[in-house]
Amino acid sequence: MDLTSINGIGDKTIKILNNMNIFSVEDLINYYPYKYNFYKPENINNYINETITINGIVESIPKAIYIKKNFNYLSFRVVTSNKIINVTIFNRNFLKNNLTIGKEICLIGKYNKEKNTFTANNILLTPLLESIIEPIYHIKNNLKNKQLNNLICNTLNNIEQENTLPEYIIERYNFINEHNALKEIHNPKNINNLKQAKIYLKYKELFEFMFKINYLKIKRNINLNNIKKEFDKEKIKELINSLPFDLTQDQNKAIEDILNDFNSNKRMNRLVIGDVGSGKTIVAFIAIYANILSKYQSAFLAPTEILANQHFINIQKTIPNINVELLTSTTSKTKRKEILTKLKNNELDCIIGTHSLINEEVQFNNLGLVITDEQHRFGVNQRKNLQNKGDAVDVLYMSATPIPRTYALTIYGDMDISEIKTKPSGRKEVITKLYKESDIKECLNIMLDEIKKGHQIYVVSPLVEEQDEEGTLYDVEKLYDKLNIAFNNKIDIGILHGKLKTKEKETIMDNFKQGKIKILVSTTVIEVGVDVKNATCMVIFNAERFGLSTLHQLRGRVGRNDLTSYCLLVSNYDKERLNVLCSSTDGFYISEKDFELRGSGNLFGTEQSGEMSFKLANIKEDIKILNQTNIDSKEFIEKNINNFSEYPYYQRIIDSISFID
Ligand code: ADP
Ligand code: MG
Repeated sequence: MDLTSINGIGDKTIKILNNMNIFSVEDLINYYPYKYNFYKPENINNYINETITINGIVESIPKAIYIKKNFNYLSFRVVTSNKIINVTIFNRNFLKNNLTIGKEICLIGKYNKEKNTFTANNILLTPLLESIIEPIYHIKNNLKNKQLNNLICNTLNNIEQENTLPEYIIERYNFINEHNALKEIHNPKNINNLKQAKIYLKYKELFEFMFKINYLKIKRNINLNNIKKEFDKEKIKELINSLPFDLTQDQNKAIEDILNDFNSNKRMNRLVIGDVGSGKTIVAFIAIYANILSKYQSAFLAPTEILANQHFINIQKTIPNINVELLTSTTSKTKRKEILTKLKNNELDCIIGTHSLINEEVQFNNLGLVITDEQHRFGVNQRKNLQNKGDAVDVLYMSATPIPRTYALTIYGDMDISEIKTKPSGRKEVITKLYKESDIKECLNIMLDEIKKGHQIYVVSPLVEEQDEEGTLYDVEKLYDKLNIAFNNKIDIGILHGKLKTKEKETIMDNFKQGKIKILVSTTVIEVGVDVKNATCMVIFNAERFGLSTLHQLRGRVGRNDLTSYCLLVSNYDKERLNVLCSSTDGFYISEKDFELRGSGNLFGTEQSGEMSFKLANIKEDIKILNQTNIDSKEFIEKNINNFSEYPYYQRIIDSISFID
């Protein structure tokens, strides 16, 4: 329903409402207060240093005092609880004529006992006979809180809001009906009613959210026949036996999960979450191998060229005779053409690459598996574009960013999850220390010791070049110079950052891998995936500029064998937060802390954090409701999967999301 259908609403108000993202009557009645003020009339003699609400009678004609424009006050006497007090209230001089002697009023404000003065911040022109709850909204322009509240309440009185939740659910939980819930949220009669209203509306909000997730999940797997993959399990065992190490228990479990998905009539949609260095890549390679044995093509998407390149080299070592090519933005035109032709003609088993794989010119003969490494680096649509290049593509995501348990359902609700928690054996914990800049010498000493032992070092800074006007942040160039001075130009130091040409990056990375470069100074381009076993030390300058999860990922670049490794954080700030890293190497714990200390936006990037902004529900507090709506929405969908005509409200939701998948 259009806002213009509301009685007596003007263009000006509509404009302001639009400004607040309110475009329809539905938007309006679902624009909830963000807090409530509670007023309960009290006896002034009970005053205890807090805002108090009192009823009283005007005892003197108010004096109006003008100080300057928009700054004036009224001053008058009031009788309350057998006492005469002196009242002032700012910027309400327009009320002067209403405050006649003998008028009964209600005042909200603070009382100064010694001076017997009452500074009111609100005044009601009738006494308050019982306690009231005043809803407070976020408002824009000069719309008044009361005005908005009246508008919503009047609108609610003139419409009949039907229940959007299925009736059987309302009965099951004895919910109040939706119309009453809306009335109470905007104009609560008492605390208990407000509570009931909130429960209904939170449940509704989360139910719709989980409905969307579960609908896509359930829908994806119906009407799919014969996508079961057949492969020789013995061959997979042989490959696993040929590896230079034994797989960990969790790696084996993840592989088993994947092979079971392949072997079912479901489309796989699985996320492998494992800390940095937990060995996710080999799991991906084995999935690719099984997919090849089933005579399908695979695509492996990586966020950076360095990583794509590393996977390209390693997969050939792991799967002998694999027909694989690497496609990135720097692949030459002729090579690219050749690769695309081979891919189309089914002469390739697998393609590994960066964003370039998403390009529509990249077409497969029979794509059966898409793997996305470091999935949080890609947008939902990018991933979807790739998996739509085949008919019933199995999808596997890799993530090194463990997310707090509580949020897993909302973020990854439509995925099955395999966790790799056990680290490959023989790994020592990385010793993590925090240094102030003034103690940099100690840090340099550790670095020198490691170099003497023949080990290598990563040094990370937040900036590529000097961007920070105050010069308080280290950029890679500055660090490079400083380290050369500190080590008397006696150590080979290399620089790596995103602005370098690919060839330059490759050369530097190669030199580092081969041990020619001892210290690699870089930005976070090395954050993901890079694997150099001889590197035992990670030094991070201006560590306060990074999220804990990012720092934890960076730390994962070292400690990749049985050598003692170090992560040295240099920062003058943020001690409490950074100390979390010194005391823990558990990625899940760290991500919980990061979330607590910095909020969700930083953890997931804007795209994913947007999914978590609910109007009323709060994932942390309402986790029980969330879990219940997960179960209830699944049940509701399964009952009606082929026909939602009985539930037009949900049919509309389906129509609005169907294009996504
Ligand atoms: P990530 O999970 O961060 O992607 P990688 O897959 O890059 O980790 O693995 C890190 C390193 O550990 C690689 O060098 C890999 O060969 C090695 N690795 C993987 N699994 C095992 C294992 N079970 N035992 C020993 N080393 C392993
Ligand atoms: Mg990896």
